[in-house]
Amino acid sequence: MRIIKNIRVRIAPSPTGPFHIGTARTALFNYLFAKNRGGWEGRGGKFILRIEDTDLERSNPKWGKDILENLKWLGIKWDEFYKQSERISSYAKYLDKLLKEGQAYHCFCIKEELEARRQEQIKKGLPPRYSGKCRELSEKEIKKNLAEGKPSIIRFKVPSRTIKFRDLIRGEIERDVSKEDGDFAIAKDLATPLYNFAVVIDDFEMKISHVIRGEDHISNTHKQILIQEALGFPQPKYAHLPLILGPDRSKLSKRHGAVAISEYKKAGYLPEALANFMAFLGWNPGTEKEVFSLKDLIKEFSLERVQKGGAVFNIKRLDYLNGFYIRQMPPKKLAKLCQPYLPKANPKYIEKVVSLYQERLKKLSEITELTDFFFKDVLEYDKELLRWKDMTDEEVRKSLDLMLCDIKAGEWKKENLEKTFMLIAEKVGDRGKLLWPLRVALTGKKASAGPFEIAEVLGKEKTLTRIKQARELVG
Ligand code: GLU
Repeated sequence: MRIIKNIRVRIAPSPTGPFHIGTARTALFNYLFAKNRGGWEGRGGKFILRIEDTDLERSNPKWGKDILENLKWLGIKWDEFYKQSERISSYAKYLDKLLKEGQAYHCFCIKEELEARRQEQIKKGLPPRYSGKCRELSEKEIKKNLAEGKPSIIRFKVPSRTIKFRDLIRGEIERDVSKEDGDFAIAKDLATPLYNFAVVIDDFEMKISHVIRGEDHISNTHKQILIQEALGFPQPKYAHLPLILGPDRSKLSKRHGAVAISEYKKAGYLPEALANFMAFLGWNPGTEKEVFSLKDLIKEFSLERVQKGGAVFNIKRLDYLNGFYIRQMPPKKLAKLCQPYLPKANPKYIEKVVSLYQERLKKLSEITELTDFFFKDVLEYDKELLRWKDMTDEEVRKSLDLMLCDIKAGEWKKENLEKTFMLIAEKVGDRGKLLWPLRVALTGKKASAGPFEIAEVLGKEKTLTRIKQARELVG
C-alpha cells in the first residue's frame, strides 16, 4: 500500500435539512480513512468538517447544529472546522481572477429564456446545456449591463475537451463537460459563489488530499477539475461511495423510513450500533466478523474494500446490532439511557426494571411499552386475558385464590417465589394454569419478562394487590 503523507479529508454537508444517514455514512468513511492511514487518534490524518452554508435561502443554522450534535454523538470527531459563509472573501478573490483572465464571464440571459431553451433541448433528446450566448458579449456591453443593474450570474468558460480522472473506487471516469453541461454557473455574483466553485477553493485552501463523497457527485467532479485546472490548483484524489439503497433497491429516501440521524437517536439506537451498521453500507472487512467498535473500524477500514454497487439498507441488521450492543452494556448505563423513555422514578427501581428487559431490547424506545405496568397503580386489561387456553372461570378463580393464600412471607426474592409458585402449580396440576393468570395479573400483558422476576421488582404489596385486582375482575 502506498502511504500518502498528510492525509486531509473533509465532510462538507449543507445545513439545509436534518443530518442525513447518507451524509453520516460519508463522514464515517472519511473519518475512518483519515485515522486508519494517519495512525491512531489523530496522530496523522486530519478529518475536517466544513459547513457549506452559502445557499442562504436553503441554509438554516438549526440544521448546522443538528450536524455537529449528531456527529459528536456518533463519536466522529473533527480536527478542524470551517463555515463557508465566513470565507466569502476567498471565493471573491478567485472569481475575480477567473473573470479578469477571461476564464469566466457574466451572463445576463434571463431565467425564462434559459428555461425555454432547456425544455427545447430535452424535447430533442439533447443534454440541456447552456448555449454560451453571453460568451460573446463585448467588454463594453458587459460594463453597460452591470452599470444598469441587469441581473446576472457568473459562468465558467468550459474548454471543449474531455476530462478524465481515476476514481479510487470506480476507476477511470470520463466526461465532456462542454458537450454535456456547457458553460455552467459558478456564482450568482462575487459574494455568492455556487457549490462547484466554492468547493474547489475550499478543497485547495484546506489542502484536501482525498475527496470521499457520494456517487451522486461524480458529474460535479469533472466540473471541479476544470476549475482547478483554470486556477492552477493540484487535483485531490477522488473516491465516490456507492449510493445507499432502500430494500426495493431505489435510492434510500424518506418513503423507506427514517433518514435523519436524529430520528435513529430518538428511537433509541446506540451510536456504537449505528456506526457499526453504517460502516457496512458499502464496505466490508472480507471476513465473517460483524461487530466492530469505532476503534476496530479505524484499524480495518480501507477504500480498497469499498464496493462499487449500491449498498442496501437493512433495518433488521441495525436492530440486530443494536440489540447486541444493548446486551453488552453495564446495566447501570443502560438504565440511564432508558430514563428518557420512562416515567420519573427512583433510579434504583428503573435499573431493576430495565435489567429485566436487557436481553430482549432491540432499541431503547421499546422500553416504554414493555415496562409500562411497573409504573401504573391499576392495570387495565380484559378479564378474558387471564384465561389460559380452555380454563374455566372456576379454574381461573381457583388459581388466583391459591396464589393469594399460599404466598409465604419469607424473603421476597424470585428464587423463593419460584419455589412457592411451583408448589402451588402442583396443586393446580398444570403450570400454565397458574403462571399465565399470574403474568396477566402482574403485567396486563400476554408476554413479559419472567413473572417471578417481575414480582420481585414489584415487591410484595403491589404483587398481592394486583392478584387481588385480578380476582375481583373475574368476580
Ligand atoms: N455540500 C455538498 C453536499 O452536501 C458537498 C459535496 C462534496 O462533498 O463535495 O452534498
